[in-house]
Amino acid sequence: MNSSIVERLRRAGHLDRIFVDGEWVLPETPARSAVIDPSTEEPVAEIALGSARDVAEAVVAARRAFATWSVSSAPSRALLLDRIHALILERAELFAQAISLEMGAAIGFARLTQVPSAAEHIRVARDNARTYPFVTHRGDMALVREAIGVCGLITPWNWPLYQITAKVGAALAAGCTVVLKPSELSPLSALLFAEVVHDAGLPPGVFNLVNGSGTEVGAALAEHPDVDMISFTGSTRAGVLVAQAAAPTVKRVAQELGGKSPNVILPDADLSVAVPKGVAAAFRNVGQSCSAPTRMIVPRARLPEVERLALEAASAFVVGDPRSQQTTHGPVANRAQFNRVQEMIGIGMAEGAQLLCGGLGRPEGLDRGFYCRPTIFSAVHSQMQIAQEEIFGPVLAIIPYDSVDEAVEIANDTVYGLGAHVQGQDLAAARAVAARIRSGQVHINYPAWNPDAPFGGYKRSGNGREYGIEGFEEYLETKAILGFQDASAPSSN
Ligand code: NAD
Repeated sequence: MNSSIVERLRRAGHLDRIFVDGEWVLPETPARSAVIDPSTEEPVAEIALGSARDVAEAVVAARRAFATWSVSSAPSRALLLDRIHALILERAELFAQAISLEMGAAIGFARLTQVPSAAEHIRVARDNARTYPFVTHRGDMALVREAIGVCGLITPWNWPLYQITAKVGAALAAGCTVVLKPSELSPLSALLFAEVVHDAGLPPGVFNLVNGSGTEVGAALAEHPDVDMISFTGSTRAGVLVAQAAAPTVKRVAQELGGKSPNVILPDADLSVAVPKGVAAAFRNVGQSCSAPTRMIVPRARLPEVERLALEAASAFVVGDPRSQQTTHGPVANRAQFNRVQEMIGIGMAEGAQLLCGGLGRPEGLDRGFYCRPTIFSAVHSQMQIAQEEIFGPVLAIIPYDSVDEAVEIANDTVYGLGAHVQGQDLAAARAVAARIRSGQVHINYPAWNPDAPFGGYKRSGNGREYGIEGFEEYLETKAILGFQDASAPSSN
């Protein structure tokens, strides 16, 4: 089945092409890049890479399309988003197979989580297009919210489709036109997404896809004078480069960057629930989520119980072939991630953290593929490197505290501020801790994922918000028209 995804894209000619102005076209140069299956370390496909010239052509197409798309009626845009949503669900299995192949997600996880949550972003965008009050009135002013323009969207490999739909859905709903540059490491689901957009009947130029490297295609988008906004998700390193490249042309730059999210387990928490769910959350997607709660901050007096429960939870993981239904955790997505995880496990051991489970090397029985051992360190100090740096892999740090004040201090003790969790039976106490944590989201007692919840970072986790109404509003400008009408006139939407 996996190879049939590649076969399907190859037969259609889409592995050789980029999608510009409503058509699949050959890029300017013959440059290509291999897509590696992280479970075998073998190439499974090659994709054509675009160049700065291809970006320029895509931007021209997007600018041309903006003239009509930005003034199209919001309900008509909602209708097209509805078609995109339906087509993603119809092709959900293809997407799941593609994601599993390109970044190693266990097929069950890809089916149940990666793809459905990606579709949800399009549904939310559709609903926002239907209901958002684009024109409001204040006194004699009309406040008009209108599309910011041509948007360059740069996405990573960890939740490949989900990151694409979060950006593309909101941008299109707002009336923006887009040039998407997905991660060159996970381009297959992006090609399938472009097919969906094409089949949904979007006008030419509204959506363009230029595959390519960050340094060529990503940088060309960031510095292009006719791109009005860049929305970037990825490393802090590249996010800073994008902002620097965008600065001379005064673009809006939205950045979703790294995280080192805390999970504060309060003294009254039910550990039998709080710990296993915390372990599951930290290792979800093999730890490759920017908001993964990778620092479990626990009462020192209860450390032995926490350790026992954490070990028990991790021992239930089945690490292996992502194609197998039984697998809960596949490999990490690429060689660079594998090396990074190994390096950080080594650093944790050298720093004197207590290795509860996992460690260096591959799990037993797996001698190739980017498989890592689910690793839990206990007795971690907040100043250790493994407590400060994003590892982006299956590594959890358990950090003990002596008072709730100290727990909050540890929670805030990194340069990041993306996600956070608080566990406790006394809701008032949990809310009080949530109020003191400096991050864009705080989850109390593991609520269900909510695609309407704005997501984004404090501090070096980024700027701006994605998802929900706030994510949609990032793609809007505000125009105040003064002297528009009498203050007593009824407001309209
Ligand atoms: P990355 O930042 O290198 O790549 C993300 C995207 O940015 C890719 O599309 C890439 O091609 C592009 N890019 C890279 N350099 C660029 C540049 N100079 N200009 C414009 N675009 C550029 O991240 P990665 O290699 O995919 O992952 C490395 C690290 O990033 C991870 O270890 C993790 O810490 C972090 N990360 C964070 C998230 C998140 O959701 N916040 C997602 C993936 C990775």
